[in-house]
Amino acid sequence: MYPSSKTCSNCRHFQPMPLRERVFNCQRCGIEIERDLNTSINLENAPQDQVGRALSELNACGEDKCRHAS
Ligand SMILES: [Zn+2]
Repeated sequence: MYPSSKTCSNCRHFQPMPLRERVFNCQRCGIEIERDLNTSINLENAPQDQVGRALSELNACGEDKCRHAS
């Protein structure tokens, strides 16, 4: 699994990210960024094969014809 929610979108530092934490506060570069925004930035920057896996784990897709149950 691509640890998109646990990786700093600014400096790529990896750190534990408890689910209850809503803001990613990087221990290395000091950035404070909303958890979901950090995750989406990481997904944009990640290799496509990893993005596909991560998106399916989130049960989300950006397709117009998305057939995921809501
Ligand atoms: Zn950082």
